[in-house]
Amino acid sequence: MYCETSTELEELVERARPYTSDGKVADYIPALGKADPKDLSIAIHHLDGKCLSAGDVEKTFTLQSISKILTLALVIMDHGVEYVFSKVGMEPTGDPFNSIAKLEESVPSRPLNPMINAGALAVTNMIHGSTVHERLGRLLALIHDMTENSSIRYSEEVATSEYKTADLNRALCYFMKQHDVITGDVEELMDLYTKQCAIEVNCHDLARIGLVIANNGKDPQSGRIILPKQIARIVKTFMSTCGMYNASGEFAIKVGIPSKSGVSGGIISAFPNKFGVGIYGPSLDDIGNSIAGIKLLEMLSARYELSIF
Ligand code: GLN
Repeated sequence: MYCETSTELEELVERARPYTSDGKVADYIPALGKADPKDLSIAIHHLDGKCLSAGDVEKTFTLQSISKILTLALVIMDHGVEYVFSKVGMEPTGDPFNSIAKLEESVPSRPLNPMINAGALAVTNMIHGSTVHERLGRLLALIHDMTENSSIRYSEEVATSEYKTADLNRALCYFMKQHDVITGDVEELMDLYTKQCAIEVNCHDLARIGLVIANNGKDPQSGRIILPKQIARIVKTFMSTCGMYNASGEFAIKVGIPSKSGVSGGIISAFPNKFGVGIYGPSLDDIGNSIAGIKLLEMLSARYELSIF
């Protein structure tokens, strides 16, 4: 794939980069603590095949919570909308992404939405397949289709690091198992979830995924339908309402582009019918979003009047 480096984008990246020192890299998953907080990169892939990038584009990182939009798409294809949303809600929350509080409040117990950990764990639990290997393979196949990059794998190091330390996520799973939101073996679910979160990409891969979502599930080059249009729409809607955790409202006002972040510092954006964006900047704010990544999107949105609202 041919991709131009854009001096205009380079200039914005260098204007946003100083904000990296206001945040810090996630280290509750020990392997993520090794990231270089100064890194910042962006790729933008347009419908017509044009592609621009700037910054540390060669850096790879793990999907973390960005995987939540992809597992959601997969389970809706597996089970249909009605079944999936009988297990997990559609409402945003003002609580942090790993909070357990609302699970106990809702009767019958149901995670508020698929973008917080409880909801994402319930979604991963629904992925069809008889083994972790098969279920993860199905998710990777979807990602290979969306990115046109079949070399994408998961990082064993990051997956193991999270698996060993994910007791809060285990607690969410056991709570949900007691309340029949999830079924089966919790350790097996943790194995699959931590591997899904550890899938390793670069900002171009993210931009390609964003592009397919922006293009209503269709690969703009081949014309192939990868996700049904209705699923692409649901994913974009969750990105708008819940994609930036409990900062989604502020982000909608300041940027106004459907986006999803992860604690590795990735942000994916899907500008409807126009382009996909992939950003990497591992220095995070208190909520767990890339601090310079958000600044960069704010600058882009302001300069080119990109808010969809
Ligand atoms: N794997 C991470 C976790 O469950 C994903 C969280 C995130 O990116 N916000 O804690």
